Amino acid sequence: MKGVFPVARFEDKETPFYYYDVELLEKTLDTIKTESGKYGFKVHYAVKANANKRILQLISQSGLGADCVSGNEVKACVEAGFPAEKIVFAGVGKTDKEINEALDCNIFCFNVESRQEMDVINELAAAKSVKAQIAIRVNPNVDAHTHAKITTGLNENKFGINLEMLPDTIRHAQTLEHVELIGLHFHIGSQITDMSAFEDLCVRINELQDELEQKLNLVVPNINVGGGLGVNYEHPNHLPIADFETYFRVFSKYLKLRAGQTLHCEPGRSVVAQCGSLITRVTYLKEGTVKKFLIVDAGMTDLIRPAMYDSYHRIENLTSDEAEETYDVVGPICESSDVFGKDRVLNKSKRGDVLAIRSAGAYGEIMSSRYNLRALPKAYFSDDF
Ligand SMILES: *Cc1c(COP(=O)(O)O)cnc(C)c1O
Repeated sequence: MKGVFPVARFEDKETPFYYYDVELLEKTLDTIKTESGKYGFKVHYAVKANANKRILQLISQSGLGADCVSGNEVKACVEAGFPAEKIVFAGVGKTDKEINEALDCNIFCFNVESRQEMDVINELAAAKSVKAQIAIRVNPNVDAHTHAKITTGLNENKFGINLEMLPDTIRHAQTLEHVELIGLHFHIGSQITDMSAFEDLCVRINELQDELEQKLNLVVPNINVGGGLGVNYEHPNHLPIADFETYFRVFSKYLKLRAGQTLHCEPGRSVVAQCGSLITRVTYLKEGTVKKFLIVDAGMTDLIRPAMYDSYHRIENLTSDEAEETYDVVGPICESSDVFGKDRVLNKSKRGDVLAIRSAGAYGEIMSSRYNLRALPKAYFSDDF
């Protein structure tokens, strides 16, 4: 089974380009609203997954908030219509300029990752005679059972504050006049498909909340559990929408919120991955002694995930129904890692055929580069056709 694409309309389009299925994105957003709404959870879209202007507009129109990791993301979100009171700003290396701009926008919350950052936000807010709302990012030491390069919740990495240092850091925050501690923030990793990792996170947060209440008599109004919900890269046609129902149910079941506490989360990948495909043409069929290579006009500069994370993307030939053959699908970039898939079974392919590299809506277009002086990929939306 292949995805449904307006292939005839692709004929006059220069490849490669991203194609976004607006209907699927809207269905996904509806599902998120329905499932999170059951429990009153607040959802902030993690903008770093895809900051295409139209995508941001569609997401802001659906009522979600935004989770940003740079000053430019904050600006893009304001321009796309996200209200400032729904914008949170995370990241380990916020510069003074970025902090000042976010203070001027009056965003909802800074997710703070170190004690020094907290002091700097306090100083900059003092200079403007404002009070910045902050959440402390805690490193909960929970194993997300995912790729090493996208695991962030284990002890001693650059993200967040360690559990042992947390009480002192909180006491310090309470001495600062121009920051107000309004939450605790967690994020354990990405592409998590084993829900027990989220259960572990809930248990850890419960223990931590008990400890903070006993030691510091502290209950913060907001608990942010980050992002990380995975999508099905193998079967995008059967499972186009991530399992938000189970995801939100896990938090409602295992996380003990205190009276008046609100749960926030920050999905990125699971919102946008499946609505996007990278459309590319076969430039050459190259037959080796053992292998057949399909050399396509998209490269790792358009979609870097396979080269960077060894990640799997389903590949479909949209213009052939002939008997299947096995190919390595590779790009034109001068790097041996420029491979989209090895030993892939596709309908028999020839020069000029159009392929779809699926589930490319998250960490695709936004990570494109101009290496080899290539043009950045264009983007089209299903309702452009
Ligand atoms: C990357 C990131 C997210 C989004 O992660 P996904 O796996 O795309 O859902 C959310 N919160 C933080 C702090 C992040 O760094």
